Amino acid sequence: MNHAAPDPERAAATLRSRLAEADRVLITAGAGLSAAAGYDYGDEDRFRELFPALHGHGLRSRYLVGVPLPPELLWGYWAVHINDIRFSPAPNPLYRRLRALVGEKDHWVMTSNVDGLFARNGFPPERIFTPQGDYGRYQCAIPCTGAVWDSEPLVARLLAAYDPGTGAVTDPGALPRCPDCGGAVQINVRVGPEFVDAPTAPHTTGSTTG
Ligand SMILES: [Zn+2]
Repeated sequence: MNHAAPDPERAAATLRSRLAEADRVLITAGAGLSAAAGYDYGDEDRFRELFPALHGHGLRSRYLVGVPLPPELLWGYWAVHINDIRFSPAPNPLYRRLRALVGEKDHWVMTSNVDGLFARNGFPPERIFTPQGDYGRYQCAIPCTGAVWDSEPLVARLLAAYDPGTGAVTDPGALPRCPDCGGAVQINVRVGPEFVDAPTAPHTTGSTTG
């Protein structure tokens, strides 16, 4: 017996037997799961591939919160980043495996990830709590109202005006404004107290068990 080396097969067998015994399953997941699934914000090679211009400016990872970028670069970044991580149509093997593992067992997901990967890989949206928000929406930066809007058409409009060579959105008309007050907008993720959290509230559509 080797007690030092981790044994993935044994760990998997233990997990399966515990799942079989469980009445309900609560899945909690953070950035590590999406990193393992291929979306590592700190992966410099991937950053250089997706954002050659920003890399040329000395930036090295997708941890850009707080980095002061002019709007045309900021929205160029958001468009490429969100398109990659939130709207990629391909099924994700790791999330699919997790979904298969849970099977028909009554389950609930709570995740700080804002990439929609649970919902896009077979988990019922009404059973996913995303208290940190969702890249799939944007909101007023104040906010003037509690409204949020679908970010997919915004991302498409930005990408149509995006120049990979400079990393900038070249048409100022493509940059988003709040439809209600005309002011700045931001992605609907929890950065500060302006975050509109109503859309993240858990749904109460009843249990799958009787
Ligand atoms: Zn507004």
